[in-house]
Order: sequence, then C-alpha cells, then structure tokens
Amino acid sequence: MAKRITKSIFKTSSLSCQNKPSTCSILRRQSTYTPAPSHAVSIKPTELSCSPLARLPTSSILRSLFLSIFFTNAALFRPGLAIFGKIANSRSAWLNPDNNPLIRPITRKLIYDQFCAGKNRDEISNTSSMIRDQGFTGIALTYGREVQLDKHNKTHGCQKSQEVEIEEWKNGNLETIDMIGRGDWLALKFTGAGVCITEALREGKPVPAQFMQAMDEICKGIAAKNCRIWVDAEQQALQKSIDSWTFDLMRRYNIGGQLLIYSTVQAYLKSSRDKVQRQLELAAKEGWRSGIKLVRGAYIANDQRSLIHDTKADTDASYNGIVDDLLRGRNFPIFASQPDLKFDLLLAGHNSKTIRTAAKLANELASAGQLKVIPEFAQLQGMADDIGCELVQMGDDMVKENPNTLFVPRVYKCLTWGSIQECMQYLLRRLVENRGAADRMKEGAVQLRQELRRRLVGF
Ligand SMILES: Cc1cc2nc3c(=O)[nH]c(=O)nc-3n(C[C@H](O)[C@H](O)[C@H](O)COP(=O)(O)OP(=O)(O)OC[C@H]3O[C@@H](n4cnc5c(N)ncnc54)[C@H](O)[C@@H]3O)c2cc1C
Repeated sequence: MAKRITKSIFKTSSLSCQNKPSTCSILRRQSTYTPAPSHAVSIKPTELSCSPLARLPTSSILRSLFLSIFFTNAALFRPGLAIFGKIANSRSAWLNPDNNPLIRPITRKLIYDQFCAGKNRDEISNTSSMIRDQGFTGIALTYGREVQLDKHNKTHGCQKSQEVEIEEWKNGNLETIDMIGRGDWLALKFTGAGVCITEALREGKPVPAQFMQAMDEICKGIAAKNCRIWVDAEQQALQKSIDSWTFDLMRRYNIGGQLLIYSTVQAYLKSSRDKVQRQLELAAKEGWRSGIKLVRGAYIANDQRSLIHDTKADTDASYNGIVDDLLRGRNFPIFASQPDLKFDLLLAGHNSKTIRTAAKLANELASAGQLKVIPEFAQLQGMADDIGCELVQMGDDMVKENPNTLFVPRVYKCLTWGSIQECMQYLLRRLVENRGAADRMKEGAVQLRQELRRRLVGF
C-alpha cells in the first residue's frame, strides 16, 4: 500500500481535466487587435476546474515547499543566503559545487534541478520538454553572464579586450540559441558582453560596430528558429544607452511583419509611463513594431532611489495602470493619434494579483472584441509556480468553455543554463532581487501543501 502511494505521488498528477497542450498552443498563437473603451474587471481568485499545481511533478512541489520555508523564515534566510553566496562565488576547488562530492548532490537536486535548464543540449532539451508537457508555451533561455555596477556606478575595469569579451558573449548566446526550440525566447543582458561594453553603455556611447555585428549574428540565428529576443533592463546609469541600442536593433529587425526584439520597461521607475509612450511614439513615427516586456524592476537596492517610486503601492499602481491602459488601448496619447497602432506585450512577474487581473481583463476584453494587445506572460523557472500554473489552467478552462476563444494565455518559463556554480551565481542575483517576495511565497506555500495533501490522501 505504502509503495503504491509513493509511486502515485512521484509522478505528475493525472487529473482528467487537463486539456492536451497541443490544442491550447494552437490557440495561444492567435492574435487580434481592436481599440477598446473602458469597462471594469473583477479581481476575484480564479475559479478553476482543478488544482493548477496538479500539473507539477511531486519532486518539484517538495522542493518548492522546502525552499519556501527557507525564504519565509528570516532566521534561516540570512545564514542560508550567506552559505549560498559563499559556494556560488568561491574560487576554491574544494567548495566548487561541480567538483565537491558532498556539495554536488545537494545543490544539484535541491537548487539546480529546480531553477536551471541543464549543462548541455540533451539536459536542456529534457527540461524544455518537461516544461512544455506541463502546458507552458515554451522557455526563455539566458546565457547567465552579466556585469553589475558598484554603488558608485563603476565597474572594476576591463580585464580582457573588448573584442575578446564580445566574441565570448556572442558565442555563448549562439550556443544558447542552438539549444532553444522554435518559438522560444533568448533572454539577453547587454552587460553580459563584458566590462568594456558596460563602460560604453555607462558613458552613453553609440553602439560599437563589433557589438552590432555580434547582434546581427545572434538575430539571424533567432530569426532562423522563429524565436524572439528580450533585452533585459538593468541599472539606470546604463539604461538610457540600453534603450537606445535596443531601438537601433528594433529599427533593423522589427520591420516587414517581423518581430524579433523586445525592450524592457521597469514599472518601478517614475518615468515608466513616459518610457512606454516614447517607445510607442518612436515606433509609430519610424515604422517599426514595438515589443515591450513589462517588469516591476530588480535594482531597487543598488540604484538611484529617487528615480524609483516611493512606495511598493506606487510601483504596483504603476505596473497595474500601464497594463490596464495597454490592454484597453487608452490613456497613452499615442492611441489618440494612432488608433490602429500595433505593438506586442510580455508581462514578466510573479505577483499573482497583477497577473491574474491582467489575464482576466484580457479575456473579458477579447470576448467583447475590445482587446488592444494580446499579453503573454513569463516567470522565472522554480518561482511563483502557483500563478504560472494557474494561467495555464485558466487557458485550458477557457478553451474547454469556448473552443473559439480569442485569448488563451501563453506562458513562458525563464531559466539559465551552465555549470552548477554558474547557475548558482545567476540565482544568487535573482534571490536577492526577489527577497521581498516572502509574503507571496507564504501564500504559495499554502497551495503547495494543499496539493501535496491531495496527492497523499486524495483531498
Ligand atoms: C521573466 C522575468 C524577467 C525579468 N526581467 C527583468 C529585467 O529585465 N529587468 C529588471 O529590472 N527586472 C527583471 N525582472 C525582475 C522583476 O523586475 C522583479 O524584480 C521581480 O519579478 C519581482 O517583482 P514582481 O512583479 O514579480 O512582484 P512583487 O514581488 O509584487 O514586486 C516586487 C517589486 O516591487 C518593487 N518594490 C518593492 N518594494 C518597493 C518600494 N518600497 N518602493 C517601490 N517599489 C518597490 C520592486 O521592483 C520589487 O522588485 C524579471 C522578472 C521576471 C519574472
């Protein structure tokens, strides 16, 4: 009996209410755009036909539960993060998680398998198939290198020549493209191209020719696979140049019915609304298609605080307001002068309330023929599975209710690849950014425990 229970909980739930991902993915590709007048949307928790977490393997639920205990307990979090940082950044061969036979199995099973794609093409392909089998649309894969400015907005000087740094970065990204599937994303950080490029961004220089050549190769690879690139937003001392270089790429690659490049707008900036308006205006004026990824922003702890909204509530209002107005096609002056303007929108984030409200609003507007832009969604792999799975389940339910529905959420999972230590370095930065998510994780943990109980005792 015990054996049977163990066997049944160690496979993905086989609830009969799941639709076949293939049906949904066809619908997830449809798109229509019509301008919209305003109307209200409810924010009630979504009523779903079955537990969204049913699609996750039990190993992942157990890991998420364990990690949520670590995240939500200050007494564990501080020392845990310190040990994590020590291992991630250690130069000692003994502490290296890829070499040490004691550290390797723990970090591999508990952390790497939860958050990372794998070390090579086969492992990454398995992870990607598993994510797709769970009903997600695909993955966003990132080559995890990045440079962060210190608190004086300085780097620590170029160690290699700009040519070598760009070449290494280009090759890392081309390798990444090789490992993603059709329709996936390449998540790209410009500072990954090295300290010299980071300095050029900080000094507001025009795009260096070698960097543009590298991007041309990367974009060709992406176009050949029918994939897209999002360019991450970073610290404000760099962001003006990141935007300007990204627009240069959009001018080249978001034309003639093709959309390859998305910029990122950080809603925690007081200027975020103006940034959205400016990008849409520029795209309309110059005749390219605008792709926007909207995030709240990750650099509050090490960026110029006065540029960022004063409170979390203000940031929430900023993010939610931009989403609401873009979905409805109102309140940005460009919509008055260019009512037929087309653009694309990816909502990246883990805030359940925001994401749930956006998906519900998009559904209501689509049903009324008033949705201006079809939003897509992305979360980091291993984080906020409750809202990611909820979106996928919502989509399956929508298709069941109305097979001709025009809006089915397309949801992507973002992850990095490489050695255990490289991935731990990437995760350390994400953990620091997501430290404020403890309350939300408590909420998520309740659902995880309910799902585990359902698998163990059937209710
Ligand atoms: C797929 C993906 C891609 C991402 N790409 C980027 C990127 O390119 N650039 C980037 O900067 N970030 C990026 N992020 C991180 C993102 O900006 C957030 O840091 C992270 O998602 C947590 O915010 P949230 O919206 O999920 O929800 P929440 O946990 O509800 O919001 C937390 C966020 O609120 C804001 N905040 C917290 N406290 C305050 C305060 N006192 N005053 C004002 N604002 C406050 C901060 O932005 C903080 O990160 C990405 C996240 C995801 C999931």
